[in-house]
Amino acid sequence: MPTIASPHLYELARRVVRAIGSAEEEAHEVADHLVRANLAGHDSHGVGMLPGYVRIWQHGLLVPNQSLASVLDSGPLLVLDAQRGFGQRMAAEAVRRAIARARDIGACVLALRNSAHVGRIGTYGELCAAEGMAFTAFVNVADDPLLQAPWGCRDPRLGTNPFCTAVPAADGAPFLLDMATTTIAFGKARVAANKGVPVPDDAIIDADGNPISDPADLVREHLGALTSFGRHKGSGLAIACEVMAGALAGGQRADQPKRGGIVNSLLAIVIDVAQIGDPAQIRADVATIGAHIKESRTAPAAAEILIPGEPERRIAAERRRDGVPIDERSLEDIMHAAAAVGIDAGEIAAILAGRAP
Ligand code: NAD
Repeated sequence: MPTIASPHLYELARRVVRAIGSAEEEAHEVADHLVRANLAGHDSHGVGMLPGYVRIWQHGLLVPNQSLASVLDSGPLLVLDAQRGFGQRMAAEAVRRAIARARDIGACVLALRNSAHVGRIGTYGELCAAEGMAFTAFVNVADDPLLQAPWGCRDPRLGTNPFCTAVPAADGAPFLLDMATTTIAFGKARVAANKGVPVPDDAIIDADGNPISDPADLVREHLGALTSFGRHKGSGLAIACEVMAGALAGGQRADQPKRGGIVNSLLAIVIDVAQIGDPAQIRADVATIGAHIKESRTAPAAAEILIPGEPERRIAAERRRDGVPIDERSLEDIMHAAAAVGIDAGEIAAILAGRAP
């Protein structure tokens, strides 16, 4: 499998995003987000998304250089409509506004509607934690074929509806839970299909509701569904994401007509740790909770005990040093997408080799 240095991957992504019309700042925000997702080990939300972004842009379903429309700005309540703008920039801008509001008055409830795909939600959790803020987000996915069969369903009724909570900790490494509410994220099924490897046994069902491990039909034909994680409880959290982002925040919902883009909406709560209590104590307590859990004996089947956020930090350290592995099929798809927006094979080769002007 080819391994590419992250700065080269960033440059490739930046040029593709520039080529579809984004201004320099937006291209940087999107490319930086995608490569950080690869570095965190979430290839499902990294540069492998570029072919999808080019496709939805070609259909007019992703709008470069969009502005956030203010729907409501009242005390702690901030309701913004991204109008299908590039999600990585729209969401980062919205979260930065929420951080500023939380710094003013202690907390902010942010509703962000109708953004194109916002990517890895943990990025916004990290952004908040670095600014001394706690962050919780309920996110839904719409406009895309339905992918998640909630508990008891044979049919997909929801998107992969991610949930995220981040809180700063004393050691500088925030608590960061960031997850799809499906057993595996759809992008992980896509990466597995591209590699020709099976997914875990309970992760997907076929069109008749039977568990299967080959993701090819789901990825290529949208036949079958991803299962909710954690039986009825994870399924309940997935529905909570739909209710919070689709009903309360007023975003597009999974039950509404689809145009084939990827639309994310979110309801996020941002809290200034320095205003809700003693920030040093809160940070120390977060670290103590992690240490307390790690003091347990390791379960027979577990290699070690990890706290959410830890796996991503570890893999990022490795990938910054060794480069990011990209499977051949994903790389080919990215090259096709780059070619479709006018970046030729010679330029791509030069970028990936670090020789691009
Ligand atoms: P995952 O299953 O790899 O990890 C989920 C969480 O579990 C993470 O917080 C991780 O730190 C933690 N974790 C992993 N292994 C652990 C272990 N052994 N012990 C303790 N904690 C552990 O993540 P996922 O569900 O595949 O989601 C991948 C990404 O997809 C996320 O970044 C999510 O935001 C993103 N996503 C985005 C969308 C969207 O529409 N924008 C939709 C779904 C998912």
